[in-house]
Amino acid sequence: MSLSAKRVAVIGGGPAGLMAAERLSEAGAQVDVFDAMPSVGRKFLMAGRGGLNLTHSEPAEPFLARFGDRARFVQPWLQIMDGAGLRDWAHALGIQTFVGSSGRVFPQEMKAAPLLRAWLARLRGQGVRFHMRHRWLGWRGDKLDVDMPGVDSSGVDSPGVDSSNEDSTGLHVLRFATPEGEARHAADAVVLALGGGSWAKLGSDGAWVPDLQTQGVPVAPLRPANCGFDVDWSDHFRSRYAGQPVKSVSMACGGPARQGEFVISGTGIEGSLVYALSASLRDRIETDGSVVAMLDLAPDWPHQKVMAAVTHPRGARSMSSHLQSRLGLTGVKAGLLRECASAEDFKDPERLGRRIKALPLTLRRARPIDEAISTAGGVAFEGLTAGLMLKAMPGVFCVGEMLDWEAPTGGYLLTACMASGASGAAGVIDFLKAQA
Ligand SMILES: Cc1cc2nc3c(=O)[nH]c(=O)nc-3n(C[C@H](O)[C@H](O)[C@H](O)COP(=O)(O)OP(=O)(O)OC[C@H]3O[C@@H](n4cnc5c(N)ncnc54)[C@H](O)[C@@H]3O)c2cc1C
Repeated sequence: MSLSAKRVAVIGGGPAGLMAAERLSEAGAQVDVFDAMPSVGRKFLMAGRGGLNLTHSEPAEPFLARFGDRARFVQPWLQIMDGAGLRDWAHALGIQTFVGSSGRVFPQEMKAAPLLRAWLARLRGQGVRFHMRHRWLGWRGDKLDVDMPGVDSSGVDSPGVDSSNEDSTGLHVLRFATPEGEARHAADAVVLALGGGSWAKLGSDGAWVPDLQTQGVPVAPLRPANCGFDVDWSDHFRSRYAGQPVKSVSMACGGPARQGEFVISGTGIEGSLVYALSASLRDRIETDGSVVAMLDLAPDWPHQKVMAAVTHPRGARSMSSHLQSRLGLTGVKAGLLRECASAEDFKDPERLGRRIKALPLTLRRARPIDEAISTAGGVAFEGLTAGLMLKAMPGVFCVGEMLDWEAPTGGYLLTACMASGASGAAGVIDFLKAQA
């Protein structure tokens, strides 16, 4: 059955909303995409600055495990579009991809702009209409009041124009703030793809949370994910090492240690190794007020070898030059040892050796959500049907980062956002067909 007589409003032009728009327009629906910003895909373009890690090449099982206890909700999305499917999709847009040494997948050009350009051209070619600078304000009631002034029942937004004289019922009436004043738009179904709450300047500010809660939708509080953490650095350490990478180090927080690198910031630590552990670090801080991350400054050196090196007689040499010559411990790593080990540790080579393999670093707070790469929390799955429709609002679907899941960096975020967009579109199609 063609959906050509059906109008679907997609609010939010990030990767999740654009994927929903693509699938819906392919199914024949008239799709209107609304976004508060002057252009769509701003966070997607920002992701492109880091090379645009589209997805990950690892097998399905470990891939799914990245979503933790939300994996069972994400699994059906990935059955519709997994990492391989996403690569095929990019290739069909003329964007070749490659697998990096870590298994992460990037576009050949390591940029988001060419992909977004090709994608938007295809969407426009499919008849998708874009309405920029349209900030969604909420609903005028759940359903269309046919005599309501200012509603454009034809589906095209027209601020202040009364064109509501057609016999339409059961439509969702959406309100938007536009530079020309408030506009309303009527649709048979609505896809909300409003993003999380980080990097508000790119459009996703989490302002939708109270709007949905008012409608009876369960929403878990938005929290920073893939974020940095505050450390009470001494002024001396901060002034010497802020901005410096700490390379090949391992970090543990309760669970198994992970090896990688992070960066010293003016306020604490950030970077890929920190992001990988950030969910458990954040949760421990929420429970206990702070968390101690254990660093191994010499992860490639077995414990015995470190102990032998540190306890080796050093003669008249200072401990710093001893550690430098025996262990290669210099620069920021040596600075971290000075910052986090005690004076007693430095007096006792055995204690110092143990500290090099297990250096406690106290993290005080997660950095504010606006600085985070992504957001945890959001629309709770208990409030959604399997087709991602809000149980409290039939005909309204939610996709992307605004749902209550999180994942580490590595391409899992974009994959799940786009896959949920495709999955939500399938839900919309089923809903509209059932109504026909
Ligand atoms: C610096 C950075 C780098 C990243 N790099 C990667 C990466 O390499 N790989 C990866 O997988 N992920 C990466 N991410 C995460 C990824 O970009 C996001 O998870 C993804 O963009 C979320 O998609 P989304 O469509 O759900 O929401 P968004 O992309 O946030 O889009 C939401 C859209 O909704 C619009 N909107 C919000 N409220 C309203 C409203 N009231 N009315 C109208 N429009 C509204 C916004 O303007 C925005 O356009 C990165 C994120 C950041 C910040």
